This record gives sequence, structure tokens and C-alpha cells, in this order.
Amino acid sequence: MFQLKFDKNLKITEEISDYWKDPENIPEEVQDFIKDISNTRVIQEFDTDKFYCPICFNYIGNDKNNLKCNNHQETIEFNFEKSNCLEIDNLEYLKYFQEDFHYYVFDISMSQVFLYIINENIYFDNPNTYKPKMTRKLSIFKVYTVIKNELWELLENKRYSFSDIDLKINQEEDYDYNLDEELNDYFTCRYLYPKNIKELKNTIFYYSHIWDIGDYALNIIPSICNLLFAPLYYKDFEYLIKNKLYNLAFDKFYLIDYSKNKKLFQGKYLEFLQNNNCDYIMYKAIELSNSLDINVINFISEYLQIFTSLKEEYNLKINEIVSYFKKEKLEEEYIREYYDYIEWALKLGFSLKDKKVIFPKDFFKEHDKLANSIMIFGDKTLNDRIKKTSNILMLNYYEDDKYIIRPANSITDMIKEGRNQNNCVRTYANRYSNNKTEIYFLREKANLDKSLVTIEVLNGKIQQARCKNNKLVTDKEILKVLKKWERNLIKIEGDN
Ligand SMILES: [Zn+2]
Repeated sequence: MFQLKFDKNLKITEEISDYWKDPENIPEEVQDFIKDISNTRVIQEFDTDKFYCPICFNYIGNDKNNLKCNNHQETIEFNFEKSNCLEIDNLEYLKYFQEDFHYYVFDISMSQVFLYIINENIYFDNPNTYKPKMTRKLSIFKVYTVIKNELWELLENKRYSFSDIDLKINQEEDYDYNLDEELNDYFTCRYLYPKNIKELKNTIFYYSHIWDIGDYALNIIPSICNLLFAPLYYKDFEYLIKNKLYNLAFDKFYLIDYSKNKKLFQGKYLEFLQNNNCDYIMYKAIELSNSLDINVINFISEYLQIFTSLKEEYNLKINEIVSYFKKEKLEEEYIREYYDYIEWALKLGFSLKDKKVIFPKDFFKEHDKLANSIMIFGDKTLNDRIKKTSNILMLNYYEDDKYIIRPANSITDMIKEGRNQNNCVRTYANRYSNNKTEIYFLREKANLDKSLVTIEVLNGKIQQARCKNNKLVTDKEILKVLKKWERNLIKIEGDN
């Protein structure tokens, strides 16, 4: 076994001859691997949504699933996976473009394992000529090895004991941000060289089974913790890999307590985890609901935090909520409104054990009713003040052949607008009622009940004008109406 020699201060005294110090030491097949990735990393022009070949800058289409460049001896087919794309606003800016990419490469020599992070810097030469040229510069960024229970970074001779890493991971809520930055890699584009991973079988990685990942290696975003710490220190990691749960192993391995959740790693649950290559979020969704219906799991995963709160804060049964949504044909995004509704119901003294309360017949009607009550509950004269404000703001009422713009006229009016538009306009009720801000709704005359644009005005100027889901107004006709209306706005002074 290969040994390092150190002095009393634990500095390495003997240079290790085997590891790569210069880019020239990088084996040809690794260089080819990197070159291959660079040459198929398409350039996407954001302004036009067009794609270009990174070698010859030929336009190669606008369908990301069908990109080909015929400008070369052999046709290059691009596949659009794993951030394999350079995003640039406009091809013209290519001359200012410069970016780094990281490649993780194992090297196994005399059963000593080295893990290199190779940095690839890309920029484009000849900015003044008609066509620029891509230039690649490789450098050895980090070299890690494992000695006893320590991780060593050899270029700067830094050491990290496994127990320290473990302590940090378990201390911090989100280790990605808190663990020593040097063990994490913030580059979004990271690639693992997959071709020699099986050689790890004859090294200290013997128990980890990490070589089993095979082709999947191309799909993972590696980190030093995932590659050098977890496989050697966490028994759960080994278990996850042996069970082909690669996404879980390379996601939040340190949060998965296998021994506590054995049930989820057996029989039909294990099968489900495997078949869907579940990640940590999906795993949590299964843990929360015990469901094995992929639609249910996707729904819960999408809103994991809300579902977790519904279960842990309000003791509700997740599966019953999901069935209720299905039965009432409620769109999934209304789970946020549902959460508000449950919160209000409890505040207003309703029992959450009563099924009629937690699963009302007409959800929107009950939601709006409770929203109304909860606002009056905290402020008895709120609605009267809103009506008063509304009467004054009618001075700014607008009407043409197609549209009207009118002030919000009651709590219910604001609640409905907020729900239809999926915005938080109802939280403005108090400020609105006290003349601190002005709220107007633009609607089509032909459909006065349908929300279109929610407008906030401050000091005679439009502060925000938003369509559904807080989207900005893009309709040219409506923008024109808003401009015209804004010019004629009468500034209304507040009480204070
Ligand atoms: Zn080309």
C-alpha cells in the first residue's frame, strides 16, 4: 500500500510522484472525455431561443431534442442533458464569455485512490473576427486522497478528518452551505469521469459498492462528500448503492436514516423507490403519506413543506387531503389556499376533527368565508373602512369600450381577487382601508367577474400591475389602457 511520509507537524515531507500536477499529466482518454463534453455543449441564445454549434457557431435549430451540426466531417448530434448548454443572451456577447467547469476524475494507482478536480476554463477568442473560436484551458484544481480516516487535499496539504466532517454534517441544518466550502463545489456544471470507477473495487472502497453506479455516473452531480466521504463512512450509502437507489445516495445521503425507516426499504416500497429512481424529496413524500401512487407522490413532492406542516402542525392525514383534492377536482396549486384555510379554521375555533370542517363541500366558498371572518376577527371596522376608501377612489374609475378599472370594494372582493389571481392582494386590506395604498382591478366589460389585472397605485403612480400568478402585464392593448389611465389619475391624499 502506498504511504505518505510526514514530519512532526504532519506536513508531507515526501513528494508523491504519482499524482498529476500539470494538465499534461492528464491521460489522453480523460482529455478526450472532457473535449467531448465541451464540443457537445451547445450555445443557447436566450434572446432568440436559438441554438448554435460550439465549434463552428453554425445555427443548429431551435428544438432542443433535435440539434445537429452538419458542418463537420461527421455530423455532430447534440444531446441536451445535464446542463450541457452555454446560455448567452446574444451570440454577440460571446466575446465576453468566460466560464469554468469541473470534472471529477478518479485515479487508482497501487491501490491508492486519488480524486482530481480538473478545472476547464472556456472562453472565445478572436472577438474582432467574423467568427470567434472556442478556447479551452485545463488545470488541476484539487487533488484528494484518503489516508486512514482522513481526507487529504494534496495541493494545499489540507486535512479533514471523517469524524469532523460527520460532526459538521449533523450539526448543521443544511450542510451544503455550512460545511467547509472546500469540500463542496458550487459549480453547477460538474461531471464525473465514469470509465474507471469499477477499478475502485480493489481499493478501500471495497465495501461501498460505489462502482455499481456504472452508466448512472454520467447523470450525477458529484461532490467530494458524495465521492470520498459518504462511501467510506456511511453504512447507509453502501446500502443505498447496493439497492440501486443512486439518486438517494447522491442526494441527501446524510439525512436518510435507514435503520429507523427499514419498512421503506423493503418489498413494494423498495421496488417503488427503485423503479422511480426516487430522490430525497420523493422519499420524504412516501414517508409522509405511505402512498405508492406516483401521481400522489409527485403532488406531495411538489408541495412537500406544506404537506409536512399539515401533518405535523395540524395532525391531518395526508392521504385524505389528496383524495379530497381529487374528489373535488381541485387543482394542486390550491394546496396553499387549503393550508391558509386550515390555519384560519383553527384560529376561529373550529374543530379540525370535524370532517365537515376539514373537507368542506364547496372549498372556495368556505375558504373565502373564513378569510373574511379572520380579517374581521382581527379588525371589526375593516370592511367599513374599505368601503369608505372605495367610494373615494371611484374618482379614478375608468371605462372604455372593452375595459373597466375600479377600486376594490370589500374584503370579499379582495379575497376573491387574491384567490383568482393567485396573489396576496388580500394582505393589503389593512393598508388599503387606511388609505396607505390604492388597489384597483382591471376587468373586461364582457366578463366583470373574471379577474384580469390587479393594480396597486401609490402617490398617483402605478406601483404594480399583475396578471394571474403575479405575471407582469404583456398584452399591448392593456398596457396602453394602463398608461392612459395612469396619466389621468387623481392623487388622493391619505388621512395621515
Ligand atoms: Zn459545427
